[in-house]
Amino acid sequence: MTSRGKSAVTPLRPPRPCPECGRPSARDTYPFCSARCKAVDLNRWLKGAYVIPARDDEEDEQRGDASKPGAD
Ligand SMILES: [Zn+2]
Repeated sequence: MTSRGKSAVTPLRPPRPCPECGRPSARDTYPFCSARCKAVDLNRWLKGAYVIPARDDEEDEQRGDASKPGAD
């Protein structure tokens, strides 16, 4: 059973708010409300604000599972 998205059926696509300011998006600059917000977002990309830091300590997450309480 996979429950992806909402349970309610949405025949019409709800208007998407601008990711920058939250105002209704315009068709010309979708999904942004204006060319300005679009530029702001693009600028953020160029500045590397969206860079995801790499992790190399994944093995740490495996620990701590040894002392599992058997009975509750
Ligand atoms: Zn906007």
